[in-house]
Amino acid sequence: MKYQYTELQQELRQMAKDFAIKEIAPYFKEYDVKGEFPRELFEKYHEAGYTTMMIPEEYGGQGLGCLDCVLINEMLGQYGDVGFLASAGSGELSMMPVIIGGTQDQIQRYGDVIITGGHAAFSLTEPDSGSDAASIRTTAVRDGDYYVLNGRKCFVTSGGIADIYTVLATVDRSKGTRGITCFMIERDTPGLSVGKEEDKMGLRLSNTTDLIFDNCRVPAANRVGDEGMGFKIAMKNLDRSRPVGSIGAVSIAQAAIDHALKYAKERKTFGKPLIENQAIAFMLADMQIQCEAARNLVYRCAENIDKGIYDSEFGSIVKTFCGDMVMDVTVNAVQIFGGYGYSREYPVEKLMRDAKIFAIFEGANQIQRIVISRAMMKRDLNALKD
Ligand SMILES: Cc1cc2nc3c(=O)[nH]c(=O)nc-3n(C[C@H](O)[C@H](O)[C@H](O)COP(=O)(O)OP(=O)(O)OC[C@H]3O[C@@H](n4cnc5c(N)ncnc54)[C@H](O)[C@@H]3O)c2cc1C
Repeated sequence: MKYQYTELQQELRQMAKDFAIKEIAPYFKEYDVKGEFPRELFEKYHEAGYTTMMIPEEYGGQGLGCLDCVLINEMLGQYGDVGFLASAGSGELSMMPVIIGGTQDQIQRYGDVIITGGHAAFSLTEPDSGSDAASIRTTAVRDGDYYVLNGRKCFVTSGGIADIYTVLATVDRSKGTRGITCFMIERDTPGLSVGKEEDKMGLRLSNTTDLIFDNCRVPAANRVGDEGMGFKIAMKNLDRSRPVGSIGAVSIAQAAIDHALKYAKERKTFGKPLIENQAIAFMLADMQIQCEAARNLVYRCAENIDKGIYDSEFGSIVKTFCGDMVMDVTVNAVQIFGGYGYSREYPVEKLMRDAKIFAIFEGANQIQRIVISRAMMKRDLNALKD
């Protein structure tokens, strides 16, 4: 046995696999074509307890460790759909900044939304500011007991279905990241509206929209942390959520490998199964090598987080490796299927479309390489490497 899962972890994995096969797998093709978030599947997902795994027990969640959440999500993604998970799981991930920087009252209020089956979304990106987060233009101007927000956000996962948002806006553009401030904002706040919905290449079961702030008055009591702390909170959040974000790449890659392996054993060319050609067998072997390496990186990162070790450089390494790996693996899976790989009738083209996002969101892979190389530049070459 490669991984020594505890009895509980094994049980959690099996339950997640069974849930994904029964409740998600039969429907994702239909919703992929429609490009729609399946609300009725979400209800079952919520009832099964998958929306509250990471929320601490004192706020009504299950307080599972990072590795446990990773193992569950791995199965839900591999046998279900990673796009569905992106929106269905955005509630907990959007709440994390509030857990990191918020007051007890704010955490409780936010938690109540998620625990009762509501949705939440995290919003930093803007039309003119993605990788360069310091240049965000959505402003928050203090006015007595309120802040007045103006600006436009884009690519907000679950933006169209959320009941509450974690939003980053600047109180002083001249201060760059030190002006960025975090707010929790209820959906029905006057001046907040949902803009266009993206028609995406992949992750089509997730909902992704613009958000518009037009003199949106947010109570000052909804500010999470001090003015100017928003960027730090968002980065801390990423350090803690990297494995949960990256395991989706492992899920997709393993699903693509399993489909390609089955096909290569069944499909015959020149009188023998494809897999009996060493070129194909080695391709499959390389795909599994890459996927296994990624899985180990994610698990190690999750174990570190469970021990309270938050390492941005390592998180970036994990994220980058997974994002590159899943694209390579799914492109090769399509290749093994030949013409059928290009057809929507077979499963691998969707996996390839879903894979691409892992090198783009939560900090594109080029940006991760900037983080990694900057850390390398500071390294003391005489010291033992961590
Ligand atoms: C499906 C989906 C869901 C998303 N969900 C969310 C969400 O919930 N909340 C949220 O806030 N955002 C979300 N995003 C936004 C996502 O995080 C951004 O798209 C991402 O950070 C990249 O920003 P950008 O699109 O503006 O690209 P840009 O910043 O314009 O970059 C374009 C390209 O240039 C590269 N690049 C940029 N600067 C450099 C540089 N200095 N050196 C080398 N290369 C560089 C980038 O890596 C990228 O490949 C989502 C995006 C998508 C597509």
